[in-house]
Amino acid sequence: MDTTSRLPGSLATKTRFSGRQAGPSLSAPTSPEAPPPAGETHLDRAALSQLNLVVVGAGALGNEVVKTLGLLGAGSVLIVDPDIVEKSNLSRSAFFRARDCGRPKALALIEALAQAFPETRWQSRQCEIADLGLGELAHCHLLMSCVDSDIARVEIAWAGLAMNLPVVDAGLGAPNHWHGRISFFAGHRSACFCCKLSPRRRQQILFMAHATAQSCWGAHQAQLLASTPTMAAITGSLQVELGLRSFFELRQSSGKEFLSWTFEASFGPDPETRRFSTPRSPHCPLHVSIPELRPLPHAQASARELLDSTGLATVELDWPICVYAGCLDCGTVWQPRRRVAWLRRYGACPQCRGRHILEKENLNCLDRDSSWADTPLIDLGLPDRHLYTVRPSQAGERK
Ligand SMILES: [Zn+2]
Ligand SMILES: [Zn+2]
Repeated sequence: MDTTSRLPGSLATKTRFSGRQAGPSLSAPTSPEAPPPAGETHLDRAALSQLNLVVVGAGALGNEVVKTLGLLGAGSVLIVDPDIVEKSNLSRSAFFRARDCGRPKALALIEALAQAFPETRWQSRQCEIADLGLGELAHCHLLMSCVDSDIARVEIAWAGLAMNLPVVDAGLGAPNHWHGRISFFAGHRSACFCCKLSPRRRQQILFMAHATAQSCWGAHQAQLLASTPTMAAITGSLQVELGLRSFFELRQSSGKEFLSWTFEASFGPDPETRRFSTPRSPHCPLHVSIPELRPLPHAQASARELLDSTGLATVELDWPICVYAGCLDCGTVWQPRRRVAWLRRYGACPQCRGRHILEKENLNCLDRDSSWADTPLIDLGLPDRHLYTVRPSQAGERK
């Protein structure tokens, strides 16, 4: 399904931009000189200065990625990270200082970057990607994923597919960090991160992200390894380099499918690199139906107003929202109105600060009969500037 016409300013902008830039400065040689060897693309500084990028994750890898983007003269970069700087980050991240401890990572980062690379416009959001309204990605050309959890990668894959944005994902490998991995996903025209997962792992992650019943609250802790800064520097630089090259190739290609690739490098006792492609998986639920996205008719609109403005039947939430929760320690019942995955990671009882929380009611979708149909969607914890999936059918089926 083509969402272009329904997203004023987003894909239309990219198309315009692409038309203006598609030409001599990128992979096509301008001079009568011999063309570059097959597969080689020039990274033109003028073209890079026109790019709007979103970097998700401001850890060791994210620090390296934004450094390289700054050196290359990227036009604008929005950094998205929910966390604050901790002492343990200082030995792994080039831009954090002791005085930043306790401050939002994304904010501390853009302050340092604005000093180092004033030509680039730096912006920050202190939230997870799933809490960034899709409308904030409307002018983005490329998403760079520097997160350390597969749930976050799936959330980024969803945003990439919903907005038809290419994603360059990277990770430092387990069980040791002498391993780096970079993958390129081309939006609608290629596999997404979820396509790459085994059916079992895909099911696990989607369950964690989508579960409407209480599930185990997976706390994840990044390992501290001496090799992290080294591998973050290598992997982050390659993520930018290889990712931008594929981005420009994608922009110039017109085929129906653009093969998603993964590059892996190991620098242990037996150094090794490999590169392989991943086709779209017929079993990936994120590709089942690419949604039509609609903005709210006004900032305080409820689900009913959104449905009335579109003439459709169901607002499908990208991620479930917990509207009622109970504390298993002190019995307090409250309305978190937060994304379930956020609550599981950060939530605490407002009374006793306990973390044994029972989710009593989670919402996946809203129709006109819902008891929350008249509540402004932003009061349910949905982000500002979000674009909503609205379907003609009644609630019941979920991706
Ligand atoms: Zn997929
Ligand atoms: Zn409590």
